[in-house]
Amino acid sequence: MLNTPNTAHDTNPVEPVIGKAQPARARGRALSVVIPCFNEEKGIEALIAHLRPILEATALDWDVVFIDDGSRDRTRELLYKAHTTDPRFTAVCFSRNFGKEIAVAAGLGYAKGDAVIIMDADLQHPPELIHTFIAKWREGYDIVYGQREDRDADSPVRRFFSRGFYRMFEQMSGTTLPDGAGDFRLMDRQAVDAMNRMSERARFNKGLYAWIGFKSTGVKFVVPPRFDGGGSRWRPRQLWRFALDGLMSFSTVPLRIWSYMGLFVSGLAFGYVLFFLIKTLVFGADVPGFPTLIISVLFLGGMQLISLGVIGEYLGRIYEEVKNRPLYLVSEEIGVTRPPQNRRSSDRLGA
Ligand code: UDP
Ligand code: MG
Repeated sequence: MLNTPNTAHDTNPVEPVIGKAQPARARGRALSVVIPCFNEEKGIEALIAHLRPILEATALDWDVVFIDDGSRDRTRELLYKAHTTDPRFTAVCFSRNFGKEIAVAAGLGYAKGDAVIIMDADLQHPPELIHTFIAKWREGYDIVYGQREDRDADSPVRRFFSRGFYRMFEQMSGTTLPDGAGDFRLMDRQAVDAMNRMSERARFNKGLYAWIGFKSTGVKFVVPPRFDGGGSRWRPRQLWRFALDGLMSFSTVPLRIWSYMGLFVSGLAFGYVLFFLIKTLVFGADVPGFPTLIISVLFLGGMQLISLGVIGEYLGRIYEEVKNRPLYLVSEEIGVTRPPQNRRSSDRLGA
């Protein structure tokens, strides 16, 4: 991955400089950690207690941006408390639950560090890895992602579906996703700025991280079970929508496939016409088969509905985008000193 020759991208400052053993650019001293939280009251304090000494040990100027994704428990209260004890813990509270992908996008907009780390609030992303991330960043990598070694923390059914999904995603989108890589990662300011330029609503961050490029490397880690022993915050329906969003924002294969299906069925129909013509000429006319008629009508009807449905999925997404609503709404900022860089998408309620 790192041996790709350096191509002539130099005219565009955001374009990645890939590969090429180059001396690391001077790295800044500010580190931001972005943590999306949704109903995490049980773990926030443990997380903060765990995270703070690790961040102190980095000897960087750090700050943490929690994104409270419309939690309905005491999460916000605890974030307040954290901020009063140490103002480097800040928070942005959404007006409702917008989903993790949007929460991460907001966090990247608010983060002001020269390097930004994204991690989950449930300690499934071991904070100890932060040191390794920073070391790799200093070596010259712009993106350092955590690669989960196994998916044992998830149920077998979820593992089956997620594996199938990623295989399909790569086939259809042509974007290769590194194995086991998720949101747990460090991104250099350049990469964060590139992410902030992406204003799409149907977000699939894993795809976007791969799409923006930049010099990247992975660090393996084993996923511990959720600290509270509870399950994932994702409901199956959300995961399904997420999978569809992912596929559809990175691939138009589902749209194009229907032209080929149409060709194929027309071919079959034409063959059938020939067959009947010859049969009638040779054996004379008989009463045409009723079942054949019904089957073909149903088959074609079904195909047309499915293809319309697929077009509808894309159309719905286009509609969502053209409405141009803000990506998220913030009801409260706790200790945040700077407006988010993806401002357009972050209208403050009442502002
Ligand atoms: N999360 C969020 N909004 C949501 C769902 C989850 O901000 O609608 C956060 C959650 O608080 C956690 C992270 O995203 O910090 C990952 O969630 P979870 O652990 O439930 O997902 P999994 O580990 O199964 O990927
Ligand atoms: Mg988790």
